[in-house]
Amino acid sequence: MLDHTPKEISERESLVINPAKTCQPIGAMYAALGIHKCLPHSHGSQGCCSYHRMHLSRHFRDPAMASTSSFTEGACVFGGGANLKTAIKNVFSIYNPDIMAINTTCLSETIGDDIPTIVKQSEIPEGKTVIYANTPSYVGSHITGFSNMVKSIANQLAENSGVSNGKVNLIPGFVNPGDMKEIKSLTAKMGIDYIMYPDTSGVLDSPVGPKYEMYPKGGTKVEDIKDAGNSLATIAMGTFASEDGAVTLEKKCGEKAEIVKMPIGVKATDEFLTKLSKVTGKDISADIEEERGQLVDLMIDVHYQVHGKEVAIFGDPDLVIAMTEFVIGLGMKPKYILTGTPGNSFNKQIDAILSENGVTAEKVKNGGDLFEFH
Ligand code: SF4
Repeated sequence: MLDHTPKEISERESLVINPAKTCQPIGAMYAALGIHKCLPHSHGSQGCCSYHRMHLSRHFRDPAMASTSSFTEGACVFGGGANLKTAIKNVFSIYNPDIMAINTTCLSETIGDDIPTIVKQSEIPEGKTVIYANTPSYVGSHITGFSNMVKSIANQLAENSGVSNGKVNLIPGFVNPGDMKEIKSLTAKMGIDYIMYPDTSGVLDSPVGPKYEMYPKGGTKVEDIKDAGNSLATIAMGTFASEDGAVTLEKKCGEKAEIVKMPIGVKATDEFLTKLSKVTGKDISADIEEERGQLVDLMIDVHYQVHGKEVAIFGDPDLVIAMTEFVIGLGMKPKYILTGTPGNSFNKQIDAILSENGVTAEKVKNGGDLFEFH
């Protein structure tokens, strides 16, 4: 392959080689799995749903449950309304989730199915909830899909009762269940009550038990998401995956949206903890300060191995932005910085970090593919 790699890089508008992103519904499905007793539902053909759930199941080595409207030629021609109405009826009567979270796919978006109207016309049992997000896959990436579902969760579930619950809302972004656990643990160590959504810890890292549980113990409860409208503020970790959800909540329920970087590395974690402290008035606890000191000590201990090393970073935008700041903090030189998700704010945020630290990178690119690294 390298024999055929051109020396000159040319801008390619209609060709992607080794894509560095996947499609919107997979992100929406991941966000939906972070709600307790939720069955994500893919409104499209079976292939989309099985690709998305297989990808999540393989990555997390845990079953990712999801249903599909199972389009065939008929739905392509006449629309998927009838399939979705039947699916909603069947899902609640057979699989009994508390909530269904519908995401669209390329096909249902191209047909133009009006999901809010179809849901309104569907039979939804008393006490059950259906939410939906538009996730056309030819726009953005899996991160856009995650963000769109988080926005829908805020918009369609949160309510302001007029009485503050004294809690803080946390939107962790598209991170692993273990990262979500760590963010919750830091917040709890400061004695702060929180509502984190989505929260896939205890869902996609659930323990093996004697009996199969279709809906594991984890995930944010629907009543807690409703109560998120009464919190002090919302801290969104990352502009790409979480900011829109926090801003939507601010517009709907009034609590302030506070946007920080993903808490990776000393600087971004300091920023997150300081924001938590400012919003709630609670001090940063002594054990967190001790852990911080240990990390700085570790960074000093390994500096001769990492200092001055050139690195290439690619991944999801919020993660790459925080990771770039982290490696600079270690004295490394990020040379190539790339994300598959499109969005010019990626370049702006990376450029700001580079210039603040007096570092120059060879290439910073959003919407790129992995061939750029050849
Ligand atoms: S890109 Fe579109 S058709 Fe392909 S899996 Fe994703 S939603 Fe389905």
